[in-house]
Amino acid sequence: MIFCVEDEANIRELVVYTLETTGFHARGFEDGKAFYEALAGELPELVLLDIMLPGEDGMKILRKLKTTPRTKNIPVIMVTAKGAEYDKVMGLDSGADDFVTKPFGMMELIARIKAVLRRSQKSTESEIYTAGTLMLDVKKHEVTVDGRKVSLTLKEFELLKRLMTNRNIVLTRDTLLEEIWGYDFDGETRTVDVHVRTLRQKLGPEGNRIETVRGVGYRMGERDEA
Ligand code: CA
Repeated sequence: MIFCVEDEANIRELVVYTLETTGFHARGFEDGKAFYEALAGELPELVLLDIMLPGEDGMKILRKLKTTPRTKNIPVIMVTAKGAEYDKVMGLDSGADDFVTKPFGMMELIARIKAVLRRSQKSTESEIYTAGTLMLDVKKHEVTVDGRKVSLTLKEFELLKRLMTNRNIVLTRDTLLEEIWGYDFDGETRTVDVHVRTLRQKLGPEGNRIETVRGVGYRMGERDEA
C-alpha cells in the first residue's frame, strides 16, 4: 500500500490511478489530517509526500513520521516544486528517502518508488535477527524477548549482535574483545565473560542460547530449532 499526500486533485488522482495500474495498491489524501486518520488504521509501505500542502506542510509531516517509532521506518519520497533546493536539503536532513520534482513523468515516479522500496526492503531484511523468541533489530537498536523489550548496555548489545550474526560459529574471547572493545583495550578476556553473564541474565530463558565453548569462547547455537 502506498499513500499519496497531495492537495492537487488532478495530480493525486493520476498518481493513484497509475500506481493501481502498475500493480500497487494506493490511496490518496488531500492533507495531513486525512493522512493521519488513515495512518492510524494501516501502515503503508511507502509515502509520497507533497511539500506544499494546506494546513500542516509536507516538511512538518515528514518530521513527525520520522520521529514517531511506529512510522519512522516507512520510506518517504518528497515531491518538491521545481528549483526548491532548500526544501531538498531540509528534507534529506529530516530523513526523506528520495525526491521527485514537479512536473514529473509517471514512469520516472514509478522507477523511483521501486528503487526506494528495493533499498528499504534490503535494509530491513538484513538487519533483524531472531532466535526463538529473541529478536535483535540493528536499525532500531532494540532487543526483545517474547515481544518484551530488554534493556542492554551498548557493549552487551554489540556482543549479542556479533553472536546472532554468526550463528553456530564459535567466537573467541580475543576476537570479541578486539571487535567490541577495540585493539587498544587494556582489559582482560574475563571482561567478555562478565558481559556474557549479565547478557544471559537479562535475556532470561533465551539466555541459554549463548553456549560456552570451554577454553575457546562463545557461540549462539541452533538449540531446539529444526
Ligand atoms: Ca501542493
